[in-house]
Amino acid sequence: MKYDRENIFARILRREIPVQPIYENDYVLAFADISPKAPVHVLIIPKGGYVSFDDFSLNASATEIVEMARAVGKVARDMGLQESGYRLLSNVGPDSGQEVPHYHVHLCGGAPLGPLLAK
Ligand code: AMP
Repeated sequence: MKYDRENIFARILRREIPVQPIYENDYVLAFADISPKAPVHVLIIPKGGYVSFDDFSLNASATEIVEMARAVGKVARDMGLQESGYRLLSNVGPDSGQEVPHYHVHLCGGAPLGPLLAK
């Protein structure tokens, strides 16, 4: 799947849509999900244009991959979730229901999250 430069997260990265960063560096941006599914629901995205984890894991540089992993852990700690715990989720493709075709990790926590998947 070719990367769509007009997807909403690409527009957020270009600041065509306003965003309040929770964390940002040269490689990643983290911001609150507009429709939170938990008391804490943050999206962490790479600044590079990757459609999904599949694309990212295949084509991103080692630096981008490390920076993404480090950022997810940092945001979780910054949000105070290290002890209580949290869930990471990344939808890939149609069966997952991925809505936005720019790789993102959902970081959810702040309360018991229940079963992994809805029935
Ligand atoms: P996914 O289904 O994994 O692609 O998740 C996309 C997520 O992006 C959903 O949880 C949406 O609520 C969230 N989302 C869509 N538009 C925005 C936006 N403008 N700002 C923050 N989150 C958004």
